[in-house]
Amino acid sequence: MTEDGQQPAGDLAARRGPASQQDMRRQNLALVMRTVAAAHPLSRADVAGRTGLTRTAVSSLVDELIGGGLLLEGELERSGRVGRPGRALVLNGNGPAGLGLEIGVEHLSACVIDLRGEVRVELHRPAANAGRPAEQTLAELAELAARAEDEAVALGLRVVGRVLAVPGSVPLGSPGRRVEHAPNLGWHQVDVTELWPGPGAAPAVENEANLGALAELWQGTGSGTFVHISAGEGIGGALVLDGRLFHGVQGFAGELGHLTVRPQGRTCSCGARGCLEPYAGLAAVLRSAGIVDEPDGPGGAAYPAHRQEPDPIAELARRAEEGDADVRRALEHAGTALGTALAAAVNLFDPATLVLGGGYADLAKWLLPAMRAELAGLIRVRPWPEEALRASPLGRRGPVLGAALVTVRRLHSDPAGLWLPEAV
Ligand SMILES: [Zn+2]
Repeated sequence: MTEDGQQPAGDLAARRGPASQQDMRRQNLALVMRTVAAAHPLSRADVAGRTGLTRTAVSSLVDELIGGGLLLEGELERSGRVGRPGRALVLNGNGPAGLGLEIGVEHLSACVIDLRGEVRVELHRPAANAGRPAEQTLAELAELAARAEDEAVALGLRVVGRVLAVPGSVPLGSPGRRVEHAPNLGWHQVDVTELWPGPGAAPAVENEANLGALAELWQGTGSGTFVHISAGEGIGGALVLDGRLFHGVQGFAGELGHLTVRPQGRTCSCGARGCLEPYAGLAAVLRSAGIVDEPDGPGGAAYPAHRQEPDPIAELARRAEEGDADVRRALEHAGTALGTALAAAVNLFDPATLVLGGGYADLAKWLLPAMRAELAGLIRVRPWPEEALRASPLGRRGPVLGAALVTVRRLHSDPAGLWLPEAV
């Protein structure tokens, strides 16, 4: 999937030569939609003023967007201005909506977000997904998705797009439905479209870390150029450059968990030595804190298959809060390794911020001091303000929120895609 919600509608026309009349109208619908989304409520006259379109054109475009269920025209504006007050245009909070889904090693999640960006339905179910057949996991997820959609319908919403966050790699060039490799689920080349039992169309698939970063861009603290690093089943990394998710050539950019932090160090689950993951991955932290036993295999980063704690991140936070010295030391060591890896990212990309997401956000209090010290020691060729490293306010909800927001953002950037899907 290349959709990042930032694509100007003008690109649609640019791809197909000179703009046809339909292209022009589509671009203008997008312009009006984005204008209202950015600063609603607005009157029709406000929209004309902000877009440079004529009032007549705006009226026709607004009527089409209202007809499509995307905008509502409400009460008269409270007047404090000179001139006749206009009726207020707002995004329709009970119209088209996005469904976000997530498969974790031990849970399934679904959420529905409306056009205003508000979460309207959120469901979460424990599920032992590691190693079980993908068909079973997808069947259970499809049930959860159907329930979320039923609840959305009861609220007056209509789900028009579905995106699934997976803890695995999703190559570019596949139709956005194939998971190449999700080691913690035991998935290899799983085609979600083929296995999706319905009801409803199969969701598009995207890597969870990428979706977490997009959620951060759209609703969190990220903006412009930033690096997002999260602890989920492994370590998720994502790069957002100038407001766009950077996929790389094959779709595998942002594998921060496999940056080398200790040459000739511990063997990673990927087979290389000295990667970040065997030092700062959740499994490594749990082991060094003494919460789970040492694994049989090489110092691997794979999620422990028989963990003792139902929510290891909450357990780590609880013990650290209580002053458990082993846990605090384990988190400090993880923070140092994270700092080493992120210093490389800072020197390479010159980001405005580093955002600590997923499970790391819940542990930030104990990770950040060591991270900051390491970053300060390794970033010497440019200024690096301490506050540029921050914890995500979205935390572990990031990926499923991002999954639902992909559709919402697409509706903002190309509303006519709802009734002219063939041109997208
Ligand atoms: Zn590795």
